[in-house]
Amino acid sequence: MGSSAIGRLAPSPTGGQHLGNARTYLVAWLSARAAGGAVKLRVEDIDSARLRPGAVEDALVGLAWLGLHHDGEPLVQSARLVQHEAALEALKRADLVYPCTCTRGDILAAASAPHAGEEVTYPGTCAHRRASAEPDVRASGKPFAWRFRVSRSPAFADRVAGPQHIDLTRSGGDFVVWKNAGGPAYQLAVVVDDAAQGVTEVIRGDDLIPSTPRQLLLYEALGLAPPSFAHVPLVLGEDGKRLAKRNNDTHLSALRAAGVRPEAVLGLLAWSCGWLPDVREVSAAELVPRFDLGAIPRTPFVLTREMLRKMGFTASGAT
Ligand code: GLU
Ligand code: ZN
Repeated sequence: MGSSAIGRLAPSPTGGQHLGNARTYLVAWLSARAAGGAVKLRVEDIDSARLRPGAVEDALVGLAWLGLHHDGEPLVQSARLVQHEAALEALKRADLVYPCTCTRGDILAAASAPHAGEEVTYPGTCAHRRASAEPDVRASGKPFAWRFRVSRSPAFADRVAGPQHIDLTRSGGDFVVWKNAGGPAYQLAVVVDDAAQGVTEVIRGDDLIPSTPRQLLLYEALGLAPPSFAHVPLVLGEDGKRLAKRNNDTHLSALRAAGVRPEAVLGLLAWSCGWLPDVREVSAAELVPRFDLGAIPRTPFVLTREMLRKMGFTASGAT
C-alpha cells in the first residue's frame, strides 16, 4: 500500500453541496484511494462576493457524512495570499503578464460577438503593455487586472473526456490571473495551491475543461509539474439543467435531514458511474475495489425525482 498519487477535493463554499458535487468528489476520492494514495482537501473561498455563511461547515459535514475522509489539515485558499502574490510577482518578472485597465463594458464593446457557448475573447486592448508599465498604470489611478499573455494552447489528454485541444486565442484570449478588485483569480490560485498540496491528479466537473489549458500554461510559466486531469460529466436535473446550489432538494444537507442513508446516496452515484449493476446501499470503502474511471459514461447523468424517491427522499420542489 501507499503510492505517490495525491488527489484533492476542492469545494467552493458558495452554497450547499449537492449530489452533483458529491458525484465528482466520490470519483476524485476513489481514484486516489484505489491507487493507495492520499486525498487533500482545499476550501476554495477566494470569491468572497459569492461566499455563503455556513457553507464551509456544510461541505465538511457533507464529505464526512459520505465517508470521503481526507488526509491532513484542509488548506484554506483565502489564507494563502502571500503565496499567490509571490506567483504573480514571478509572472511579472518573466513579463508573462500585463496590467489591463479594461472594464467589462470595454471588453464587450471591443470584442467580436461570441457564438453560442463560446467565451468572449479578450480583444488585446492592453496587450501592448509590458509588466514594467505597472507604476505608470498605477499612477493613472485606474483600477487594473493582470492578464496572462496567451501564446499557445496546450493540448492535453483527459483521463475521462479524451484528447482535448481548445484554441485559447479564439476562445477567451489573454486571461485574468489577478482581479482588478485585488486578489488572485481562480486560475492562478488553483495552480499555486494544487502544486503546494502536491496534487498529482485533478478530477473535477467537465465545465472546467476550458480552464485546463490555461492552468497548463501557468504550470509551465511557474516551473511547476502539472498533474493529470480527468473531467467528469455533470449531473443534470429532469429539466436538463445542471444542478445548482439553489436546487435545495438535491443538497446533501436536505437528504441527511430527511433521514436518507449516506450508503443509499453512494449506491446511486456508484450506479450512475457504472460501478454497480443496480442501485444498492454501499460504503465509500466498499467502492474502492470497484473504481474504474473508464466505466463512467461520457454523457451527463440525469437525476430524476424517482431516483430520489427510491433513496427514501420525498422532495417537494423540482430536482
Ligand atoms: N472549487 C471549484 C468548484 O467547487 C473546483 C475547482 C477545481 O476543481 O479546480 O467548482
Ligand atoms: Zn485591457
